[in-house]
Formats: sequence, C-alpha cells, structure tokens
Amino acid sequence: MRRSSAPSQSGKRPLFPDIENYSPITNVNNSNKPKEDSSVALHREKRLKTLKFKPILIPERKALQLNSNDVTTTKEVISDHEEKIRKMLSKPFKIPIPGYELSGRFLGAKFSGPRRALHDPNAANALVVYAPPELSEHERLKIDESKQLVHVVVDPLLCNILRPHQREGVKFMYECVTGVRIEDAFGCIMADEMGLGKTLQCITLLWTLLKQGPEAKPLIEKAIIVAPSSLVKNWYNEIFKWLGNRVRPLAIDGGSKNDIDTKLVGFMKTYGRRCVNPILIISYETFRLHSHVLHNDEVGLVLCDEGHRLKNSENLTYQSLMGLKAKRRVLLSGTPIQNDLLEYFSLVHFVNQGLLGTAQEFRKKFENPILRGQDAAATDSERAVAQERLNELVTIVNKCLIRRTSALLSKYLPIKYELVVCIKMTELQTQLYKNFINSDSIKRSMQNHESEKKKGGGTLSALSAITLLKKLCNHPDLVYEKIMENSEGFEGASKLLPSNYSTKDVMPELSGKLMVLDCLLASIKSTTSDKIVLVSNYTQTLDLFEKLSRKRQYKYVRLDGTMTIKKRSKVVDSFNNPESGDFIFMLSSKAGGCGLNLIGANRLVMFDPDWNPANDDQAMARVWRDGQKKPCFVYRFLSTGTIEEKIFQRQAHKKALSSTVVDQEDDVCRHFTLNDLRDLFKLEENTVSDTHSKFKCKRCVAGVEVKGPPEQSDCNSDLADWRHAHNSRNLPDIPLKHCWSSGVSFAFHHRSTEQVKEKKEIEEKPEEVNMDTEEKEVEEGKKKTEEGNIGQKREAVEIREVFNPVDTLLVHRWVFLFVSSSPDQLKVL
Ligand SMILES: [Zn+2]
Repeated sequence: MRRSSAPSQSGKRPLFPDIENYSPITNVNNSNKPKEDSSVALHREKRLKTLKFKPILIPERKALQLNSNDVTTTKEVISDHEEKIRKMLSKPFKIPIPGYELSGRFLGAKFSGPRRALHDPNAANALVVYAPPELSEHERLKIDESKQLVHVVVDPLLCNILRPHQREGVKFMYECVTGVRIEDAFGCIMADEMGLGKTLQCITLLWTLLKQGPEAKPLIEKAIIVAPSSLVKNWYNEIFKWLGNRVRPLAIDGGSKNDIDTKLVGFMKTYGRRCVNPILIISYETFRLHSHVLHNDEVGLVLCDEGHRLKNSENLTYQSLMGLKAKRRVLLSGTPIQNDLLEYFSLVHFVNQGLLGTAQEFRKKFENPILRGQDAAATDSERAVAQERLNELVTIVNKCLIRRTSALLSKYLPIKYELVVCIKMTELQTQLYKNFINSDSIKRSMQNHESEKKKGGGTLSALSAITLLKKLCNHPDLVYEKIMENSEGFEGASKLLPSNYSTKDVMPELSGKLMVLDCLLASIKSTTSDKIVLVSNYTQTLDLFEKLSRKRQYKYVRLDGTMTIKKRSKVVDSFNNPESGDFIFMLSSKAGGCGLNLIGANRLVMFDPDWNPANDDQAMARVWRDGQKKPCFVYRFLSTGTIEEKIFQRQAHKKALSSTVVDQEDDVCRHFTLNDLRDLFKLEENTVSDTHSKFKCKRCVAGVEVKGPPEQSDCNSDLADWRHAHNSRNLPDIPLKHCWSSGVSFAFHHRSTEQVKEKKEIEEKPEEVNMDTEEKEVEEGKKKTEEGNIGQKREAVEIREVFNPVDTLLVHRWVFLFVSSSPDQLKVL
C-alpha cells in the first residue's frame, strides 16, 4: 500500500509501524491468518520485549489499529477502483464556480483526431439541422479528418421537448441563418401564431448556433435579442427556464447611461468561447440610445422580438438596428403583417437586405402593379400582371418566412382516412415463416436471449431474427440470399422455393402485401389522378418498389439519406408539381422524412410498421399537411397474424416504449422479456386480424360489424373504436375495395373529424411533455398579461388583422402567404 506523505494522511500512519499488530484486537482478528504471520507476530513480540516497549492503548490508536489491520489483511483485496474512491472521498474535489457543470471535457485539453458532432445524430428523436454531405469510400480515404464537416444536432435537452412543428421551425430558421435556403441571405421571419412556442424555437436556435457548427466549432460567439422593454426580463427567464445555468444572458433593463455603456462595451469586446455572457437581451429603446457602442463590432446573430415594430423602415429604431454588424437576423412576429406591401418590404428588407431590391425597386416592381391589378377598373391584363407579381413576391418571401396558424391551417386541411390493412401472407411466405420460427437456431437464440441481453452478443440475436421476419413479411426476395446461404433460421428453406425462383424480376405474387400494393397502385393509377408516397423501413423494399414501378412503367422518384438538401428540395418540388407525371414517391423512413412536404401526393402507404409511433405520425404528416387540397388516404399494411401485427399492437399501446420514445430497434429489443419474444415469434394462423381478435370486439358478430363506432370517435381514437371491415362493402376507398380479393383479410378504418377540431387534436395529441410546454405557454401568457396586458392586446390585434380584409384578392393571397410555410406548397397553390 502506497502511503502518501501528505499532511492529511499523516494521522493515519501508526506512530510505530512495528507495534501496529500488537493490540489484542489485532490478535483476535488475525487468528485466521496463515502461520507465517503468527510467527512474524511472535517475532515482533519478542522484539518489542527487547525494545522494552509496552503496547499503549490510547483511544486514538485503537481507531488507527483497525485501519492498519484492514490494510494488512486486505492488502490484495483493495481494488484500484476502491483505492480511487477512497482517495476521492478523503479529499473531495469541489468546483470553485457555483453552478458550474462539468462538460466531460477537460479544460485546456486539445483534442486531435477526427472532428465529431457535439450530439449523436443517430440518437432517438435527434433533430439534425445540418448533415454533412455523404462521402464515398474513396473520398473518405482522401479527406483530411481534421477538416471533415460534422452534423449539427440540436441539444437533446431541448430537442426532446420540442413539438413536431417546433422542430420544423428550428430547422427552418437554422437553414435560413446559415444561408441554405437562399444564397447569400442569412435572415428569416418567424411569424408563428402565439402559443406555438416561438420563444422556445428561437432559444433552441441560439443555443445550437452558440455551441455548434458544421466545422465542429460554434457558428456564432455572441447574439443580441432586442425586445420591447416589458419582455426583456421575460426572455431572460425563458432562457433560464430551458437552459438553466448553461448560459448566462446579459439582460439590460434600465440603469444609468454610463453603467449601460460599460456593460455593452464589455459585451462587445469579448470574443471566442470565453464569452461570459454570450447573449445580450436589450430593449429597442436602449438599443437605439446605445447603438454607438453596439455598432462597433460584429455580432453573430440579432433576434428582434415583436418585430412588426420594424415595419417602418424610416424610423430611428429600424435604422439603428440596420446599422448593426450582424449578418444573421431573425425577426419574430406573432402579429400578421398588415395588408400593406411596403410594411412587408420593410420587414423582409431588414432580415435579408436587398432580397426585394431597394424600396424604390420594390415599389416599381411589386407594389404598383399589384395595387393597380386590384383596382375595380383594372383591365384583364393588369390583373394578370398583378397576380403574377404577387406570386413572385410570395415565392421569394416564403423562402425566409415561416408562419403556422392552427386556426387558419385547419380550414385548409381536407379529410383524412386512415386504413390499417391486414393482409394474408402467401403460401410461400407462410411456409418460410413457420420454418424460421420453428428452427433450432431461433429456439436457441430465444433461450439465449436473457443472457445475451447482458452480453450483447450471440449468434443470431433476437434483433436480427425480428428483422429477418419483418423482411420476409415484405417479400421473400429480401431474405433470398440468407435462404440460399442456408443461414441460421433458414436451414433447409431453399427447397421451399419454387424452382423458377429469381430475384431478377420482381414477382409480386410471392408476397401478400406486395400483391395488394401492386393492385392498389394499378387501381389508383387507372381511376384517379392521385399521387402516392410509399414508405418502408428497408432500402431493399424500396429496391423492390423500384423494380415494380419499372415493370408497370410508373414514373417514380426515390429519396434516400445521401441526398443533399438542395437535391432533396429539387426532387420534392418536381414531385409536387402536378405537371411532372411522377406517380410514386419512395421514402425510407430512416432517411428522415422530417420536414419533407409531399402534398403533391394525397395517398401514402406505410408498407411496414415501425416500433416508434412517432415515426409513423411523421410519415403521415408528409401528405396531410398545410397546403393539401385533396382528401387523404393513409394505408398501413400489416401481414396478418405475424410479427408485424404484434409490433403494431405494441406501437399502439406504446408498451415496449414506456414513456420514452425509442427510435432504434436495438433499444426496443432490450425491453423484451423471454415471454414477449415468444409471443412476438408466434404466428397466429387462424385469424383475419390478430389485433382485432385481441379486442374481443363486441360490435362485431360473426364477421359483421353490427354496431358502428362511437359518434365522437375519429382516427385519433383507439383502434377498437374505428370501423371494422370484415369485407370490402363499407370501405371508404374505392381503390382498396378493388384490392380486397388480392389478399386483404381485414381492415380498420376511420376518418378525421370536422376540420377545425381535428387540427386542435393533432396539436394536443403528442407526448406528455407537450402538455408541459402548453402549460408554460399559458403561464407565459399570464405573465405577459400581468405585465401590462400585452398578451391580450396582442391577441386582439391579431384577430382584427386577420379578419379585417381590406381587399379580397389581397387577403386571399395573404392567407396563403401566411399559411404556407415553404415555397414548395406555393407551386401547388
Ligand atoms: Zn370489431
């Protein structure tokens, strides 16, 4: 045992090392010691006697005796870990800065090696606002690792509390302020209606920019929030609420002129990561009065709350803000901009100077012709020009403006039908399936599951077994190689395949689901002008879709993870264009459909179930969203009685997921007990729908739904309260009716309720955390109301402005303007 010579340790040292084993206690405790030890003790005794020493038993020494005894007997037993802990406890380290939290990195430590994203882009629920371009293997070898770009991923701390529309908002703003949406323009207008969480979205943006960037260093060092003086404190509190002590904003709310100047100079003169207060919150008035200081240096981002104050480009506040050296500008406004084009110009000009030209150019190009076209006496050609200019304006502006209004939006969302379609597997699939679940490999892997869970290894893990079964449900092609390799679970399966089996050409008739899909596509293609989105978890399935599309000569586009954002939006734009003739959009649920706007399609097939219900909701939101004009049909395909139904049931009950939303199958697996797995791998053969059977449904008698679902129910209700279709008679969708005989065994279906209500329910549906957000917003609203009735005033203004149409044409277009959150939709409008 090493002994420290530090003063703190000296007390633990016995005064005379030789006497340490001499007390009676020692002898008792040492009775089990090997003989050599006792002889040593004897020897010592002898020596002590010769030294004429009497054992002194003072209380202090007694205590020490125990200590040293410990040392002698457990010399080999003390582990390094134990030693470390004891050392730590003997002199606990205290961080001298109160509230400081360790980041896991060491101060002053220089990290070499490849750059890394700050947060895991593949984590469950991760919000990736920037993804580096995918590199080929060759490029990867060539690239200088220290220059590699990294993902920018929103801090999970915030990401996990963001609602879907807030995630979209953050991504939108991030893309704007990094110049992705419009070349050389770094500003945007966040015009979400009050109650949608603008503040949180902005804080998320700020936090992300202050901490991260594609170059693995922060994109900005400092930011300024300019707000009405009554909201300065509010911003400070909000930042603290969401980020705690992670960042310390400098809120300037009154004080003497010199005082403020000193603080502002301090703020402007600090650089780099060392900024103590990287965020300055300041009122418009104070900003204007002290602009001489603030104009001295560059600031990463400026954010103007209640930005409609800047609708007049002539006033002093506007001009002093314009003088700020800040490339990135975000303007927040919960108040829709009034029907005054010039005001509009001012706001856009503030965030993206020059985007609409100068004020004169704007007047000439947009304002005058648009106003002329609205005149009652306008000629047809004048009207046409007005329309054209308005469209142009709207397209430009929507690239940097985001506005979501639940009330307005819901009016535009058409009805949505959701259909859960249970489809019988083909004979071949069933045989392969049974062969698989009854194989020795599977039995062994189930037995090993419990121990494997701990080890995390094994031959055929439960996870890979699940994946193989899911793939088999999609089409035998997906497991063909495994079958031919005679690999685990497929021992002897090759003899089940028909002799002419080939993966070269797709054979829909070998898969129940693909057969129904084939039929559905044909029916839609031949009887409607609708477009369709196909979603699958597996790229192999998408390959299959491609083969099928080529076989049937359908025009299609496919989006995968490797596409750049620009390419993506090109593909999406082209698909959404009604003229394009693309019939199918193929989407991998892993490629992240988040934020994609596919309103060109009004039908969507989820070809296989995902563990995470949020992913399914995400996918569905691609088509049933702002700007959609047609009734929507969302089909979820499930192979009857198979693992897919079980996954779906778990998804519906969120059983496997508990409170956290789990994205990776790997994690789901870890939650499974042996019984769960047994159930998962069981094939329910004699049922038209395992899910329906499990309900013990009282509304259905002998294969007929005799009693309808409750009147208040809709597609957000529990599946037991949907329509239960045992045959095609009452299906709301004609194409699906046509396909029933291709293998559908059962269908659940329901529609969304009348529109205003349904939007509200969507807002309220997501996870519990949202309730929190909502409460916070209510709180926030209250606070604001207390602070001079601002909340109420704001709302009143909003209503007046929206429903006080000055001119019908303009207001109609305006509604579109505010409703549409991205330029893609406008093309369709
Ligand atoms: Zn029923």
